Amino acid sequence: MMNTPLLLTQMIERVEKYYPNKQIISRTESGIHRFTYKEMVERTRRLASGLEKLGIKEGDRVGTLAWNHHRHLEAYFAIPCSGAVLHTINIRLSPQHVNYIINHAEDKVLIIDSDIVPLVEAIQHQLKTVKAFIIMTDKEELPPTSLQPVYHYEDIINEGNPSYRFRNDLDENAPAGMCYTSATTGNPKGVVYSHRGIVLHSMALGLADTTGVCERDIALPVVPMFHVNAWGLPFAAVWFGTTQVLPGPYFTPKILAELMQNEKVTITAGVPTIWLGLLKELDEHQYDLSNMRSILCGGAAAPKGMIKAFEQKHGIPFIHAYGMTETSPLATVASIKSENDRCNKEDRLEIKSKQGMLVPGLEMRVVGKDGEVEWNGSEMGELTIRGPWIASEYYRDERTKDAFRDGWLYTGDVVTIDEMGYIKIVDRTKDLIKSGGEWISSVDLENSLMAHESVFEAAVVAVPHEEWQERPIACVVLKEDEAVTKKELLEFLEPQFAKWWLPDDILFMKEIPKTSVGKFLKRTLREQVKGELKK
Ligand code: ADP
Repeated sequence: MMNTPLLLTQMIERVEKYYPNKQIISRTESGIHRFTYKEMVERTRRLASGLEKLGIKEGDRVGTLAWNHHRHLEAYFAIPCSGAVLHTINIRLSPQHVNYIINHAEDKVLIIDSDIVPLVEAIQHQLKTVKAFIIMTDKEELPPTSLQPVYHYEDIINEGNPSYRFRNDLDENAPAGMCYTSATTGNPKGVVYSHRGIVLHSMALGLADTTGVCERDIALPVVPMFHVNAWGLPFAAVWFGTTQVLPGPYFTPKILAELMQNEKVTITAGVPTIWLGLLKELDEHQYDLSNMRSILCGGAAAPKGMIKAFEQKHGIPFIHAYGMTETSPLATVASIKSENDRCNKEDRLEIKSKQGMLVPGLEMRVVGKDGEVEWNGSEMGELTIRGPWIASEYYRDERTKDAFRDGWLYTGDVVTIDEMGYIKIVDRTKDLIKSGGEWISSVDLENSLMAHESVFEAAVVAVPHEEWQERPIACVVLKEDEAVTKKELLEFLEPQFAKWWLPDDILFMKEIPKTSVGKFLKRTLREQVKGELKK
């Protein structure tokens, strides 16, 4: 067979040829913006040439700090299709971490939404490699800013070359994108996506038994484009000619429901917190979402009651999937097999609330104490995965050796696997708390608490939460004869962390349960905390 390279260039050139008139709809600061793929591709060519004029060369990293909208979509293709690397930066991280990852990735240019400019201004003097800032805004003028040198995105487009030729001579294994993911402690870790990985992952999103993204769809990615490439949806949608609806910086349940209704959205993707909000909105107000064929949910476990309410009360089919930044992210999907068609509603719901089956193209092993576990739904082991859209390392990071071993990615997720091959996540080895789809490091909170003069030791665990899935609770043992209040400890933490990181409660204890080697026994502690909170 021919060994032709798989490149993002083919995706964008295809949509230009076959679907020039299909639309991209964005909710921006000044209202709903609509344009066609023909216009989008021309602007993307202009942007790519503009970046080259700014000195961007093959392999250079260009960072984006932006919400989901048409300009960000242009950057998604202009950067990699000119041979550079699209580095999407999670704007919800602390300024220190944003600073770290821009320097670590050695971004040359940053493309920034106007409302995110203050975040970059606050760290600009620590940025070592950035040569230019480009601000995306609907307004004619740039907002006042201390960033230098600074360009208006629309000026770059206006002055760009509409006939720029996207690169089709790149190596398919060359980097196209990168995204940093939170670590248990310390700085985030970088994952680099190759052209080949993104193309094959997009193909996987198009499979009928996974998410089946196709031309007829009208796709609304709620999951941010700075979060694992909005789960790869923008790439697949461009390739397939799918209409895209991009919600912009504000996505309250009302805004989302209106967009879904008005634009006749057929498929949408986001974390459970978003869907719990939407569910409440649908329960309280009338909307016509009859076009919706799938709500895609991942990033944290989808509660069974929520799946039931969407499917049985509102008639909206639900797809529960699992993945990580390291897996591009689509890894497993809880799709119903034909042999399950005979199951009753309750059993089908049970299947859908699991994380599901491995998608074609990947390989998986669940490794327990004594090797691979049985497919019996009870034996537990760590999920390991490999495949063409699974990262093989962290970018220039010695933590690579912890997660990537013998050619497998060790996910840190503890799962069971049932007779039919559906995995279910039962625990996590990584000491992180996932609140509303974003990570909180329990270790970082613990270290800060233990730096307080009255604290002897502190452990932070996740407890289930209805809206946010998980929230942190701190357990604190005070030094002898020391007294400090909850309020004082929270005030102590406040300047050190983003507000949403602060523990919901602090429980004072006599001791924290430990393993024989003196490590916190978090599983036992979690049960203890749940008991305490019920009192
Ligand atoms: P994303 O949030 O896009 O999935 P991250 O890399 O931030 O990517 O987080 C990946 C982790 O999130 C997984 O290792 C797992 O712990 C958790 N996770 C992802 N999807 C699910 C799911 N469907 N159910 C439970 N946990 C999940």
